[in-house]
Amino acid sequence: MTDKELYKSLSYERKNAYLEMDADEHSAMKELCCDYMKFLDKGKTERECVAEAEKAAAAAGFKNMNDVSELKPGDKIYKINRGKNIFMAVIGTEDISCGLNIAGAHIDSPRLDLKQNPLYESTDMALLKTHYYGGIKKYQWPTIPLAIHGVVFNSKGEKIDICIGECDSDPVFVITDLLPHLAKDQMSKKMTEGVAAEDMNVLIGGMPIEAEDVKEKVKFSILKLLNERYDITEKSLQSAEIEIVPAQKARNVGLDESFIGAYGHDDRVCAYTTLRGILDIDMPKKTAVAILVDKEEIGSTGNTGAQSAFMMMAIAEMTEKLTGTCTVTQLNRVIENSACMSSDVSAAVDPNFLSVSEERNSSYAGYGVAIMKYTGSRGKYDSSDANAEFVYEIGRIMDENGVIWQTGELGKVDQGGGGTIAQYVANLNMNVIDCGVPVLSMHSPFEVVAKSDVYMAYKAYKAFYMNR
Ligand code: MN
Ligand code: MN
Repeated sequence: MTDKELYKSLSYERKNAYLEMDADEHSAMKELCCDYMKFLDKGKTERECVAEAEKAAAAAGFKNMNDVSELKPGDKIYKINRGKNIFMAVIGTEDISCGLNIAGAHIDSPRLDLKQNPLYESTDMALLKTHYYGGIKKYQWPTIPLAIHGVVFNSKGEKIDICIGECDSDPVFVITDLLPHLAKDQMSKKMTEGVAAEDMNVLIGGMPIEAEDVKEKVKFSILKLLNERYDITEKSLQSAEIEIVPAQKARNVGLDESFIGAYGHDDRVCAYTTLRGILDIDMPKKTAVAILVDKEEIGSTGNTGAQSAFMMMAIAEMTEKLTGTCTVTQLNRVIENSACMSSDVSAAVDPNFLSVSEERNSSYAGYGVAIMKYTGSRGKYDSSDANAEFVYEIGRIMDENGVIWQTGELGKVDQGGGGTIAQYVANLNMNVIDCGVPVLSMHSPFEVVAKSDVYMAYKAYKAFYMNR
């Protein structure tokens, strides 16, 4: 053996996933990514993602657990929490006390929510007040086409789905920005202050109507349109949940179409690949679970977030329908023997901003799924930090199943940081590790991922389900 060969066998070098895939895998990747792009276009809110997941699950033979009284190996079930959070499972051949293989992703993405009294008129224009959701760079949201998605209750108390701005024939909405000619003061501000949250008002109309003794003639016109179309009034918006999201569709990026650009890769790229992973398996040894949660971007809070008791309640119900009972000890046994892939994205090294990354420990677009032992910030604060035994086990499963993977860490130490659902799942007392797709321009209206990484994430979740 030459020194060069010996060095190669002793040292580690990350691999570009595109170079590791054969022609069959390249075409499987293209097909998967094509379906993923359709999923992105249909699922721009957590509710829409749950609806898409339920449709796909039902088509693959999954039954609503509420309608099932007994379970046996091979059965496929799902359970929905308030339309925003879905639990899916494929019952394994091993006893459930041996634990579950869980992959969990989030389906909420940073966006602008409408306030409860959003509609007002100024300078003969009607606008909507917003309250941003999640960690956005506010300057990225003006001057792009926006769509309105959400639910509202009409005068009869019926829940109405609203979606405007996604069809080519639909109008879109926009937040206007200052022309450079008059932006002297704005341009000398810090980027965090250049666009103020209270100035992120969405333009919704500008055509006044003839109306006697009504001062706000544009607002009047918009209220009339809303009433005609949805049978709602201004007061209906107080209970509505309306999300403002980028209106553009997912697109191939690059002459070689190696990337996908879209709104919401964080974390629908992991949600979709987790979903596909569980849809595409039969008869695993351990019971496989996929859970898609809401509210990760604001701390996994709320009854549909990862800190909610929903997952534990669904596991308890599943255990009881499988074994006839579910004592606390029984449930504890199931949980302590379970393991979880916290399917969430990592930051890809950006050639335009190399200085924030540490080259040996960051993840790179195109180099496969990123496995992150820990996240957190300021000295691993708020990180679950997976143990060596589990990191080894997951790495071995990936290697044995042809998954191209890399390690990941969110930028240089003390540059910033972030968290995922991993810490909350770890609190239940199970092994958990973050595993997901590296993203460029994360939390922007047009995030970018490499197709090879999307494919490797799918392979990773499937390999985990079938081999742990
Ligand atoms: Mn995320
Ligand atoms: Mn995020």
